[in-house]
Amino acid sequence: MKRLLKTIKTILLALLGIMMIGLIFGFAKPIWRHFVTYPKFQRQVEAFALRKKECPDVTGLKTYRGVMHLHSYWSHDSKGTISDLIDAAKLRKINFIFLTDHPHGNIDSFPRGYRRGMYDGVLLEPGSEKQGFDAWPLKDGVVNWNVNKDSVSKQIVSNGGIVFYAHSEEPHNWNNPWYQGMEIYNFHTNVKLKSATWPILTDFLINGSKYRAWAYRTIFDRQTAILAHWDSLNTHRKIVGFSAVDEHENVNFRARYTKDGRIQLMGIDTKPVGIYKVSFLNRWLLDAPDKDGWIFKWMLVNTYETSFNNSVNYLFADSLALNNISHHIIEGHHFTAFRFLADATGFCYYGAGSDGKIKGMMGDSIKIGDVQMLTAVSPYPGRFTLIKDGKTLDVTEGETYQYSFDKSLTNGAYRLEVEVKPGSEWQPWIYTNPIYLY
Ligand SMILES: [Zn+2]
Repeated sequence: MKRLLKTIKTILLALLGIMMIGLIFGFAKPIWRHFVTYPKFQRQVEAFALRKKECPDVTGLKTYRGVMHLHSYWSHDSKGTISDLIDAAKLRKINFIFLTDHPHGNIDSFPRGYRRGMYDGVLLEPGSEKQGFDAWPLKDGVVNWNVNKDSVSKQIVSNGGIVFYAHSEEPHNWNNPWYQGMEIYNFHTNVKLKSATWPILTDFLINGSKYRAWAYRTIFDRQTAILAHWDSLNTHRKIVGFSAVDEHENVNFRARYTKDGRIQLMGIDTKPVGIYKVSFLNRWLLDAPDKDGWIFKWMLVNTYETSFNNSVNYLFADSLALNNISHHIIEGHHFTAFRFLADATGFCYYGAGSDGKIKGMMGDSIKIGDVQMLTAVSPYPGRFTLIKDGKTLDVTEGETYQYSFDKSLTNGAYRLEVEVKPGSEWQPWIYTNPIYLY
């Protein structure tokens, strides 16, 4: 009997030892990042921010920062409230939010549970993510998703709305003449294309609260295939590129009181985990209910606050009025920037005549004879890559960018990518929409 107990004890200790070694190995990288790598990155970005310089106003328009393709409580897989959204937008200086909630059925109505318009200085516009579309009808009414996809996009776009393609790695009818643009960056595509989820999970478990922006960057990919596809589409007609945050605020744990005074715990995808009695043990874990009623919140990843600091659309427009903002979105007068690296306000990419004056900016078509050079002003120094119809034409480091044409100038779509170097490595920072020369 004694020997048997001893054997069991040895086996248990060995198992415990194996588990400990596994945990140490599994968590070694994220722990190292927590204490060494990410604090270093943070210091480098803060030092880099001091290099910001004022940019001349080229366009005469204002720059607005916006997030597009994201979800609120109206979607089955989100519990984000309007006040969660607006608080995060104000913290991150986001001016417009274009939501894409999953519709409740095939008959999709606007308005829905919340009203469109200004909330504390932030423009909020409802839209739908359905059948691979990011759709914003921009007016009240009903969208009938029972008809085929091409008819839906025709219906929305011909009535003045916007249809962009979501999740560009997925199949779409790229020949559909009605869609106006596509996602060129989506955080979910990044995650999906990774072969192992364990390193992502452990990194967010260890670094999810303090260094979430850097955990995002660790799994960042340039999404080269999507960008190449976008370039090839733009050789046929204008396809606007934008970045999707695809935010749900749902990879986290929350709790609230039920009507009868018990505690309801919700887990990932806001699925209910269970209902518990209030006890001495759980009472000390809980806070007083916040304004949305939450008494416990443990947010690991995918929060509005982090996403609104990650991929942001910088848009040139006259005002925050919906018709003006949506007009410039459709025109492609915007670029994507990874804001946690550096705020890109002030950046502009445009075509200039021989007098140096602007003839058109990203998203515009300009006559070859009218433009002498492609130029960019930037609040931060960077490495500028000019891409024509998918081929790299020029790479230059500098404070600003200028590409003067010679006689070999031909028509095509010219877009710019900008990288910054806050530390020892170049980091993708900006993707502009193309300038179309004809
Ligand atoms: Zn989505």
